[in-house]
Amino acid sequence: MLDYIIVGFGLAGMSFSEQLRKSGNSFVVVTQEDKSSSVVAGGMYNPVILKRFTSPWDAISQLEYAMPFYNEMQSRFNIQVVNPLPVLRVFTTIEEQNNWLIASDKPNLAPFLSPNFIKNDNAAICADNDFGVVNNAGRLQVAKLLQAYKQELLATDSYLQETFTYSDLEVTDDYVVYNGLKAKHIIFSEGYGMKENPYFNYLPLNGTKGEVLIIKTEKLKLNAIVKAGVFIIPIEEEDCYLVGATYHWADKSWEATQEAKIELRDKLDLLINCEYTIIDQLAGIRPTVKDRRPLVGRHPKHKNMYVLNGMGTRGVMVAPTVSNQLYNYIQNGAELSSEIDIQRFSSEYKTVDG
Ligand SMILES: Cc1cc2nc3c(=O)[nH]c(=O)nc-3n(C[C@H](O)[C@H](O)[C@H](O)COP(=O)(O)OP(=O)(O)OC[C@H]3O[C@@H](n4cnc5c(N)ncnc54)[C@H](O)[C@@H]3O)c2cc1C
Repeated sequence: MLDYIIVGFGLAGMSFSEQLRKSGNSFVVVTQEDKSSSVVAGGMYNPVILKRFTSPWDAISQLEYAMPFYNEMQSRFNIQVVNPLPVLRVFTTIEEQNNWLIASDKPNLAPFLSPNFIKNDNAAICADNDFGVVNNAGRLQVAKLLQAYKQELLATDSYLQETFTYSDLEVTDDYVVYNGLKAKHIIFSEGYGMKENPYFNYLPLNGTKGEVLIIKTEKLKLNAIVKAGVFIIPIEEEDCYLVGATYHWADKSWEATQEAKIELRDKLDLLINCEYTIIDQLAGIRPTVKDRRPLVGRHPKHKNMYVLNGMGTRGVMVAPTVSNQLYNYIQNGAELSSEIDIQRFSSEYKTVDG
């Protein structure tokens, strides 16, 4: 009998796999690959909300846990996937500069917001009012890391690339069985795919569609992330950048749209003045929740069934910490923080369950 079956292998499923691997638990991953927010993600980790210069929920402790977590995987696979990069925030007004300076004095933001502005010396970027610099930020090459992890799992027959069929799952008090796989526990981490999960689709996962462009230009020569109306993030291919992202709440399709392309192009054209070629466009659905907190915990009825979802717009920073919290909850009886525990939506389950 296996210890775990994990359904869905994005940032959430991979982070939980890593908890299990480190602690010597046996597991098999069952995942489809075509609807993954993680593969589309810009992969940025940035401990500051750059609209209002505030700190995202629990950012400092998430980052402190996440960086060694990814660095360790990077070393184990002998690949480069963690790219520390400063974020240069373009100021549009002097008032913004003042707000930045006030924020940079706050203890939770001081390690990240530099009080020293830098002049723009890149002729391809339109920024007359200097840049504010965010330190301790960067990019995780999520797709590359998932690929490396998948190869490791394939080598031990622990990765099944298929759509999980919920009606094939047999649940008993002591174990679950799925197509011949018997396990003590099952973890559902299907991202927005959770909408099809009859055990957990009572949870308020809204989903926010996002799209990005991949552009190529020899003129930009950036070795930092630049943020104005959009982010421009240098990626591994030479002279290529990821530009994004859009936020759309009504459209739940996984296809790239002409509207998003125009929106991103218009915003990019305000930020750079050099020629570029669009070489790709990607779309995904972020697993966002109405109260902007992850969905973690045990199923109200089935004690060996769990959910790890709701990574929202910041999966790179959030997934390692919450996977660790779920692991400690199951294996060590630790309490789950009420902020992430799905018990906060128990009234919604009762409604569904009658
Ligand atoms: C355009 C865009 C840009 C983003 N940029 C960033 C960023 O810069 N930084 C950041 O931190 N976050 C970013 N995000 C958010 C980030 O992508 C998510 O927070 C995170 O990837 C969610 O991970 P997940 O594992 O929960 O879900 P997913 O990555 O969606 O993984 C779920 C997996 O489960 C599989 N699955 C679903 N249903 C089933 C089923 N029935 N059977 C088997 N498998 C199934 C899916 O195919 C998928 O592989 C971005 C998202 C988008 C869309």
